[in-house]
Amino acid sequence: MHDPFVIALPDINNHAPANLETVFSIGNGHFGIRASDPLSHSATGGTIVNGFFETAPITYGESAYGYAKKHQTIINLPDLRAVTVTDEAGAAFTTQKLVSQELDLHTGLLTTELILATLDGKRLHLQLTEAIGQTNQNVAALQYTFTPLSFSGKITVTKKLAFYQAAVTDDDPRKARAVQSLQIDDMAVDQGQAIQITTASTHLRVQMALSVPETTTLDLTQNQATEFFVGAEVGPVGSADGDYPTSVLPPDLGTVAEDGQQYWQQVWAQGTVDITGDKPLAQGIHYNIFQLNSSAGRDGHTNISAKGVSGVGYEGHYFWDTEMYMLPYFILTQPTIAKQLLAYRYHILPQAKERARTLGVTNGALFAWRTINGEEASAYYPAGTAQYHIDADIAYGIGQYYAATGDLDFMTKMGFEMIVETARFWANFGSWFIKDGKKVFGFFDVTGPDEYTALVDNNYYTNRMAQHNLELVGQLIKAFQDAGQALPVSVSEKEQADFEIIADNIYLPYNQEHQINAQDDSFFDKPVWPFAETPKENYPLLLHYHPLMIYRHQVNKQADTLLADYLFFDDVPTDQLQREYDYYESVTTHDSSLSRAIFSALAARLGMGAKAYSYFMDTARMDLTDLQGNTADGLHLANLGGSWLSIVTGFAGLHYTADNLTITNHLPENWEKLAFKCQYQGRQLQVSMSHFGTEVTVLAGDPLDITIDGVQQKIAAQ
Ligand code: BGC
Repeated sequence: MHDPFVIALPDINNHAPANLETVFSIGNGHFGIRASDPLSHSATGGTIVNGFFETAPITYGESAYGYAKKHQTIINLPDLRAVTVTDEAGAAFTTQKLVSQELDLHTGLLTTELILATLDGKRLHLQLTEAIGQTNQNVAALQYTFTPLSFSGKITVTKKLAFYQAAVTDDDPRKARAVQSLQIDDMAVDQGQAIQITTASTHLRVQMALSVPETTTLDLTQNQATEFFVGAEVGPVGSADGDYPTSVLPPDLGTVAEDGQQYWQQVWAQGTVDITGDKPLAQGIHYNIFQLNSSAGRDGHTNISAKGVSGVGYEGHYFWDTEMYMLPYFILTQPTIAKQLLAYRYHILPQAKERARTLGVTNGALFAWRTINGEEASAYYPAGTAQYHIDADIAYGIGQYYAATGDLDFMTKMGFEMIVETARFWANFGSWFIKDGKKVFGFFDVTGPDEYTALVDNNYYTNRMAQHNLELVGQLIKAFQDAGQALPVSVSEKEQADFEIIADNIYLPYNQEHQINAQDDSFFDKPVWPFAETPKENYPLLLHYHPLMIYRHQVNKQADTLLADYLFFDDVPTDQLQREYDYYESVTTHDSSLSRAIFSALAARLGMGAKAYSYFMDTARMDLTDLQGNTADGLHLANLGGSWLSIVTGFAGLHYTADNLTITNHLPENWEKLAFKCQYQGRQLQVSMSHFGTEVTVLAGDPLDITIDGVQQKIAAQ
């Protein structure tokens, strides 16, 4: 039942249509197709093009200087799957039953089977097979196979590039707003049909084409399966005023399918994860890896939005989620994509510099908390701009990319400048103050990753990450010096020394009573949230309580101090880490999907196997089981990456710097074996572990110095 590479939900008819649209969506980083019922003309189905967005002014009841000015909203484009089917008398077929949906993770093919019927009882079987181009990221192919079940005659298939949008009417901040300012023009094409969609404010355009005319008549008189093939094209995002590449008519299903298959073969060859002894979880992790790859922008100008290209939730915005939760997977399995994701940040560095000026900082850059075009799009600054840890998150991602790849060329062209500009931000935005008689450096009015605690002083995570960001400057200067290369961005000796002094004196709050790192200066003064009196249905708290009710309490939406502990594992002695884990776990709701993966990985490293496993179970199949209750809006991309982190950095204890790679076996009891592939500094590695030991093989590349289960060793290539 659980083929680890085939996704098919047994209780498919118990899922809401919008949930299935997300779960079975397929994408290629440029665009995604939601898996709608093709006959329903679903308002939530459609095509999502990474980075194709519109802006609209944000209207504040009370505004203030420097607030984000414009909403940025991803646009839901016409559904490539939608069809209308009528019989000879013009009676419409509608879906009587969804029989199955099956997503093959080896080939990328999605197959949907439906029974269609007219009101007067004519029945048809429809199989829709869909593939999306991976090398040619502008194409998709759809094959509709109609088999008459209870009649013989002709049918008319109508296929149009039409908008069936719905307005969002509730208060959930995680949903997207509807876009009304689109210009849609029909285009003259030799064959089939095409439209051009132009946005009024952002002046962007995308062209979409279908290889078929609006209506086609199919002869089903022979009572045989009859195929209707549609090639689809979704062009690149272009400027409304610039040249736009001429349309190329899409290839057939076979060609697109073959392209997809080759792509997925390479993805699995470079980064498969195999779990022996637990098929549902093996399937879950494969699905997550598949969808991560389907959503990642590969062109250096797009990124991975919080929902990927699977849905319009969070308006298609890119967050810190990329660097902290998804990038690690790409760094260690597909470094070329990792580089492109970081290149996106470099391309929005000018906007980040401007943003820092708006915040009153004369030197340095502050990346937007949530954005597509680089400008801040968060209308709620306490949980938006105040999360300026994003600067250090991006720097951390760049540092990790460099440590794993040694790509000094990227650091020369883009990476170093971003690290320096973010370090400058920290040095300028923070301040010196006296704590316990000592002069220290810290940050006032800050929100850490835990969005249930806002605008506090000295968030531990932020301070620790800022420290790392500042330290990275010195480490990279050394790398350039060692390589005999001039610095790509000049940093004076005085500035470098200032960075070092600040880093050495960053204040890291500690709570004496509990003997643990304190989330911030006031966290432990607050009352603990009344968990016992909170009914289950009031979670997530953000949908049921005013922010001030939440902020006044000790309650976490997600891992915060524990995330810092997870990243800087050597900082905290094990007994303290255990205390920290126990305390913060007791006040964490996991209302954010970014939480459980970190709790799982830390629990594994702390030897709490059962706990690690239980959190991992939630992350591995989060969207397949709709654990957060809002998969309909799109996949939880950070959690998809997080589940990979739970396995690789938790159960396998992988940890690396530029000088050393460490693997530590924390295999869960009920798994027989865990095996995965990854890359480290130009080598292809295979790691496998069982309850009898751990084996690391260098499949390609130079001999490797590695610490396996606490023992340092050198492994030569196979
Ligand atoms: C989380 C943030 C995250 C955002 C987008 C929020 O619920 O608290 O940490 O960046 O979702 O995924």
